[in-house]
Amino acid sequence: MNNKLWAPWRMDYIQTPKQEGCIFCIKSELKNEKENLVLYRGQESYVLMNLYPYSNCHILIAPYAHTADTNEIRNTGNKEIMWLANKSMNILRKTTGAEGFNFGANIGKAGGAGIEEHLHYHIVPRWTGDTNFMPVVGNTKVMVQGLTDSWEKLRPHFDTLGKA
Ligand SMILES: [Zn+2]
Repeated sequence: MNNKLWAPWRMDYIQTPKQEGCIFCIKSELKNEKENLVLYRGQESYVLMNLYPYSNCHILIAPYAHTADTNEIRNTGNKEIMWLANKSMNILRKTTGAEGFNFGANIGKAGGAGIEEHLHYHIVPRWTGDTNFMPVVGNTKVMVQGLTDSWEKLRPHFDTLGKA
């Protein structure tokens, strides 16, 4: 039984040397939304595509604040994150037919955070019968369409959201 993870982009991620600076801080400041796969910019956090998805249309919500500590996110920030999570899931239901989600954060190295210094929440759309979730579970076989294609599909919906 071969339970090896089939997710070559994960390997790419593991093998890519750590670049200078924090990717969530860098992306929050760059202006080209499509190039950076940014879906939405809120008051205190923003939404982007995960470059190393566990499933099709795996998105992230990251606060602008460079912190690993959920205690440092203000109440208004937490409120916006939940608002964005709800809106994102609605959009994913509509555009991908997602039937369920994994929503949450990996906190700290022990918690499995890929980028542990900057808090970010994952929203992973799920479908009945899809194989599984995190690589620790193994046996993952995810089909991923191009990230840009996904961005193009999702972005118009985020454009209509307004503000929290
Ligand atoms: Zn940062």
